[in-house]
Amino acid sequence: MKKYALVTGGSRGIGRAVCVKLAAMDYNVIINYRSQQEEAEKTLQLVRETGGDGEILCFDVSDRQETESVLELWNDRHPDDYIEVLVNNAGICRDNLMLWMVPEEWDEVIDISLHGFYNVTRPLLKKMLLRKYGRIINISSVSGLKGMPGQINYSAAKGAIIAATRTLSREIARKGVTVNAVAPGFIQTDMLENMEKEAVKAQIPAGRIGEANEVAELVGFLASKQASYITGAIIPVDGGLTA
Ligand code: NDP
Repeated sequence: MKKYALVTGGSRGIGRAVCVKLAAMDYNVIINYRSQQEEAEKTLQLVRETGGDGEILCFDVSDRQETESVLELWNDRHPDDYIEVLVNNAGICRDNLMLWMVPEEWDEVIDISLHGFYNVTRPLLKKMLLRKYGRIINISSVSGLKGMPGQINYSAAKGAIIAATRTLSREIARKGVTVNAVAPGFIQTDMLENMEKEAVKAQIPAGRIGEANEVAELVGFLASKQASYITGAIIPVDGGLTA
């Protein structure tokens, strides 16, 4: 029987590296994206290069109705299957100091990172519980663990994801479904495009910015059967930033 994993925001950056990792673990990877189809197709190509396979599913995780109907359609097309691994990775940042932060910046980040987690996870949860096996991995951030000036919207959303991870893990631990969060530090992706790299590196004990595949390796382990007794954990991948 085919095994399915859904990676939200799988078209670029950390999500892409996670898709490739899960494909190498024999998962049929469902690559979600919102706007950049070409990038999603490139991820699918990389997935196929591992010898695995996948499909692309376009929806905006912050749009509850769209998310539910796309996932329902997927279920209709796969009546005997279920998505056993969910990686809630889609996210954006809209940085600003609290004093200058406009409502749109606050809302968009909360809508995608926090409401997106609810919108995607809830419809998939039932089948995981019925099958008594599942892996939910939420991509949080160091910004959710400590205060990051200029990122109050992002810190609030990522901190809430940490709290939600802990709570959900306890709600369903007896059902064979684990829920964990990964908290990356600074990882080389489009998200860091406008950041002053040298100043950032000076703050990191490892002295360098991380690579997307260094996050994906941990996600892969948490998604594996071997990680069966790890749940409710919040694990930084940050070169020592929060040590
Ligand atoms: P990128 O900007 O490289 O990629 C973001 C991905 O999310 C894209 O695939 C994008 O799709 C998708 N996405 C954005 N909004 C939506 C939406 N509404 N619905 C569906 N998909 C969406 O980011 P990263 O790879 O750097 O970040 C991935 C995750 O890791 C995020 O949650 C981020 O907060 C977190 N993180 C990143 C860090 C870093 O240093 N890079 C540090 C800590 C945490 P599309 O291409 O269609 O826009």
